[in-house]
Amino acid sequence: MARILILGAGVAGHTAAQHAKRLLGNRHEITVVSPNSQWNWIPSNIWVGVGRMKKSQVIFPLAPVYKRKKINFKQAKAVAIWPEGDSSDSHGAVDVIYTDPKRAGETERVRYDFLINATGPQLRFDLTPGLGPDQGNSLSVCTYQHADHTAKELKNIIEKMKSGERQTLVVGMGHGACTCEGAAFEYVFNVEHEVRQAGVRDMAEIIYLTNESELGDFGVGGMTFDIKGSKVSSEDWMTSLFQDRGVKVIDKAHVTKVDPGEVFFEKIDGTLASQKFDFAMLLPPFRGVEMKAFDVSGAEITEKLFAPNGFMKVDADYTAKPFEQWSAADWPKTYENPSYDNVFAVGIAFAPPHAISKPNQTPTGNPVAPAPPRTGMPAGVQGRAAAETIANRIKSGNLRAPAKEASMANMGAACIASVGAGMLKGSAATITMGPIVPDRERFPETGRDLHITSGELGLAGHWIKRLLHTMFIYKAKGHLGWSKIPE
Ligand SMILES: Cc1cc2nc3c(=O)[nH]c(=O)nc-3n(C[C@H](O)[C@H](O)[C@H](O)COP(=O)(O)OP(=O)(O)OC[C@H]3O[C@@H](n4cnc5c(N)ncnc54)[C@H](O)[C@@H]3O)c2cc1C
Repeated sequence: MARILILGAGVAGHTAAQHAKRLLGNRHEITVVSPNSQWNWIPSNIWVGVGRMKKSQVIFPLAPVYKRKKINFKQAKAVAIWPEGDSSDSHGAVDVIYTDPKRAGETERVRYDFLINATGPQLRFDLTPGLGPDQGNSLSVCTYQHADHTAKELKNIIEKMKSGERQTLVVGMGHGACTCEGAAFEYVFNVEHEVRQAGVRDMAEIIYLTNESELGDFGVGGMTFDIKGSKVSSEDWMTSLFQDRGVKVIDKAHVTKVDPGEVFFEKIDGTLASQKFDFAMLLPPFRGVEMKAFDVSGAEITEKLFAPNGFMKVDADYTAKPFEQWSAADWPKTYENPSYDNVFAVGIAFAPPHAISKPNQTPTGNPVAPAPPRTGMPAGVQGRAAAETIANRIKSGNLRAPAKEASMANMGAACIASVGAGMLKGSAATITMGPIVPDRERFPETGRDLHITSGELGLAGHWIKRLLHTMFIYKAKGHLGWSKIPE
């Protein structure tokens, strides 16, 4: 019997657990360690954050699903990895601390034969003074609890506008090295839509504050679309959308601090400026979760397993090189750790080799460098690929059997960005691109295949996005036919 240990029950970890169980049945032991009792469909936090959905609609408890599937679930957080085992047992192990209220604070060393690290991001609000709900000066939609709180604040300021007070709303990135511009983009347009629906659009100044060098960059270096035979840049497409909705843009900015009612930033050209606000939703930069690693003697080997940003090293080319030399081939294919081939990292937890957008700095050295986005679809595909590699190796008895590949430089993505909720008046920007990481060798003109890279705006996109919400929650609950729903 082999033991497969999966850290994290988000898109990547939960998908890996479901597929590992499907492929291996009950003859092998699958265990998931994750600190939260609830599964969260994070994309719909945007709708919770504008009060269109209740938080109960975007979560469900994990324990009953894992019990039904005969997957062990430990509500705990991983804090250390022993990939070579320790003096008492040569099998790899992970130290966990329970967050389950019944065992809170208890520790355990959990053994594994195969490990999948899918621990997602650590939300580093603390890297910007004053940023985020804990430091208190801005709001967030990163978790369902944050989004629920943010919706209440939005309701309050809409009431103020109704009573005749003009309000300034700032939405965007709370640090120059942030990722997830797509989420901030969705949220700013959902806020604009709500304010318009409330009949107070003329009382609101809405501002999008971003680290992107140009609109439509989204951390993937922008895109060129083929729209009805004409080439259109994502920058032009987005610029017309922002103008159409009257959303002001502050771009090329690194936020340096957030005070009550005022956000301070430095631009790429060194300009120091600030913007006053009545409502601000600003995303944090991401880092890997806090985890240490030790060798069999107990010596710390964290740097061997993890990159300096805390994400786990995988089969990528991490050689430092200038932007001009970045290549699609640098990106990982199998997500195996280079030192331990029974350890994988998938989803946001793996360390990307470099950014995709060209990174910039301010004259004082602050980053204005969108980090590469790792969205839900690639996270799910990578989780499934790691599960398939492990299942194949266990079933064939060949621990060197080739790994399943799922490179982001060989994978297309479809992103449906809501720009307003509502079955009749809603709208969404549907963007498809392939590959996610541009490949200038295969597609010298734009780095991407123009046959599949396209953008479209309309109500149909909203319906699809709403349908995806229902489909992915159905799939995550593991109901009949779940595995037929693609990642
Ligand atoms: C507001 C918002 C909107 C978004 N909208 C979209 C969208 O529309 N489309 C899209 O494709 N993507 C979207 N994304 C991105 C998407 O949410 C991520 O791509 C996806 O969640 C990544 O999956 P993951 O499994 O890597 O990480 P996560 O989903 O974050 O899961 C990480 C898991 O690890 C657990 N964990 C954390 N620490 C530990 C630890 N120490 N030990 C064990 N477990 C741990 C967490 O509890 C969680 O279960 C959005 C993101 C945000 C923030």
